[in-house]
Amino acid sequence: MSRLNLLDLLPSELEDLAESIGGPRYRGRQIAGWIYGKGVADIEAMSDLPREFRATLAGRATVAVPEIERRTPSQDGSQKLVLVCEDGARIQSVLMPDADRLTLCVSTQVGCGFSCAFCLTGTMGLERNLTAGEIVGQVLAARATLPAGARITHIVYMGMGEPLANYAATVKSLRILTDPGGLAFSPRRITVSTVGLVSAIERLAREDLKVNLAISLHATSNEIRDRLMPVNKGFAIEELLEACRRFPVAVRQRITFEYVLLKGVNDGPEDARRLVRLLKGIRAKINLIPFNDWEGSGFQRPALHRILAFQEILLEHGIRATIRWSKGEDIGAACGQLKETVEV
Ligand code: SF4
Repeated sequence: MSRLNLLDLLPSELEDLAESIGGPRYRGRQIAGWIYGKGVADIEAMSDLPREFRATLAGRATVAVPEIERRTPSQDGSQKLVLVCEDGARIQSVLMPDADRLTLCVSTQVGCGFSCAFCLTGTMGLERNLTAGEIVGQVLAARATLPAGARITHIVYMGMGEPLANYAATVKSLRILTDPGGLAFSPRRITVSTVGLVSAIERLAREDLKVNLAISLHATSNEIRDRLMPVNKGFAIEELLEACRRFPVAVRQRITFEYVLLKGVNDGPEDARRLVRLLKGIRAKINLIPFNDWEGSGFQRPALHRILAFQEILLEHGIRATIRWSKGEDIGAACGQLKETVEV
């Protein structure tokens, strides 16, 4: 029988577990303190737990932090981490420093089944969902690599996979990350990105998690979006944007729309104007991502003047639009470029 991963449990569930093996509930809080406060994954090393309790706990459970197999630094300061899960599955997380921020991008699936035309990860297909513990474990593994005094300030669910297609594990991991007895992350510093699974967005809106939402939009007409993102055939743009209008967005927060600029496909002034019309009534900000080329993609990055002209139209209409020259491009860690080949 495989052992329970303590990273799959909320602090209150750690208390239940402590009680179920004959200890007082506060032992659960002590365990959470070791794991999340001190970064200790070895149950034997949790020295304020009685020896017998530790032995019983270690017989039933483990703290399975994915192991870092490789760290690849990029010239822009970001770092790709290749992590190995207990079953040998390989996933990636990316650490991205930017001024006073340090953002960690986490994966939620091994591979991805959504086959967006411009995305390298999509060519892998879906191997499996990650557990909540494997998502939380990426944060612990990345944190352990930081020099003294540095800390992860933001987390984005934008790595391999579609977070809302792995809904239960994604939501559970968000609860563990934001729990005051867990990693105590502010939900305002966490962003969940989705291709636009409308029913899951509506469900997320009811969870009262208060995390930020990002939508991979990438096109302004259903015709083009159908071509770029097969998911659009199930949920049309209008339906997706209606769900965004209903999503609870806190004061001073905005929904982020990711828009990868592809030469001759979605980068014209008419696309920019359509985007302005589509986003009416939504507190939005747009991340324009000039396409990061990968071999065999069939797409190209637009010329700089086209990129700037696209941004200009959005700005003229009062829409906040930033060009994201993707970080980690030279190490294959930029948006839509995460792919891990399994080495045998
Ligand atoms: S863009 Fe996101 S949803 Fe689409 S294939 Fe890539 S990882 Fe999957």
